Amino acid sequence: MSVWDDLVGQSQTVATLSRASSDPDAMTHSWLLTGPPGSGRSTAARAFAAALNCPRHGCGTCRECTTALDGTHADVTVVATEGLSIRVEDARELVVEAAHRPSVGQYRVIIVEDADRLTERAADALLKALEEPSARTVWILCAPSQEDVIITIRSRCRHVRLRTPPTKAVAELLIRRDGVDPAMAMYAARAAQSHIGLARRLARDEGARRRRREVVLMSGRIRTVPDAVGAAADLASIATEESGSSAAERDAAERSRLLETLGADPAARTQPPHVRSQVAALEKDQKARATRFARDITDRALVDLLSMYRDALVVRLGSGVDLVNEDARAEVDALARGMSADELLAAMTAIGQARTRIEANVPLLLALEAMALSLRLPRR
Ligand SMILES: [Zn+2]
Repeated sequence: MSVWDDLVGQSQTVATLSRASSDPDAMTHSWLLTGPPGSGRSTAARAFAAALNCPRHGCGTCRECTTALDGTHADVTVVATEGLSIRVEDARELVVEAAHRPSVGQYRVIIVEDADRLTERAADALLKALEEPSARTVWILCAPSQEDVIITIRSRCRHVRLRTPPTKAVAELLIRRDGVDPAMAMYAARAAQSHIGLARRLARDEGARRRRREVVLMSGRIRTVPDAVGAAADLASIATEESGSSAAERDAAERSRLLETLGADPAARTQPPHVRSQVAALEKDQKARATRFARDITDRALVDLLSMYRDALVVRLGSGVDLVNEDARAEVDALARGMSADELLAAMTAIGQARTRIEANVPLLLALEAMALSLRLPRR
């Protein structure tokens, strides 16, 4: 057993990081781990933090290892933002933390899970700390790709790239770690396109499987303008459906906790100015979190939808590559018959454009409607 066990299909990364943890000459203090969503960036970062602090360099069983992996190690800080960006105030706090010597372990490790969400000012605040870290501090920044990280930051880090793990490796992990049965594991790994977290969710949550199926089957059903408008509305509603009432409950709980901390009366009709401004700041954070959540969910749905056109193109070209939607083979075949290769490519481009627009803040429904109109099946 070792801390690297759950990092599937990443032998190169494991070799680099485990060598750095055991050989001082191979050690660097600022790292940038990149890889597609679901490839295991944060798993790799935690495993590395464990290996750095473990007397046996990552045995996976000692206290240093287990606490670093589950996020409770006193010297390992994990920054996972739920908002749209990491602010300069947060970055400054990290710099202060990074200056402290480790309390129990060998190294103080700061993991920034979404380094692509550092604002420019936040990035500036980190520069010096990244360039000249204390001797026993290690920074591990994670992002989808190098290009997503502000250049001044990435030029100060050693870069390690994770790849998309093979479908089979993801399925094996689900079988071994989560006790999923083999057929379900294979379906989930394929449908999630090797995104490990999503694959696990699909394997265990029937609702997630049903929602995914509804999305992919939209591809064959858009014929008219009203169909397109309806499909866009359905896609937009997925995010609301997924967040459900839990978000509202959480928001309310955070608000009452804040009022309690400030010693304010939650029932009071008007609050003093300092309370009002703190509540306003919290509400802004909550709104940013909801926006990011909606975007992420929608983006995932678009990736699923895209996979149908991609599969239809695979069938059309007879290239024999595995289908993502093997479970919807009949619908993929129908789509391949209904659209030419050029039309399928145009559909894929339209979906790609919608993803870019949503990321660039175009209103969700607007971007989705424009896309759905381009997805209408041609009349023949
Ligand atoms: Zn250990």
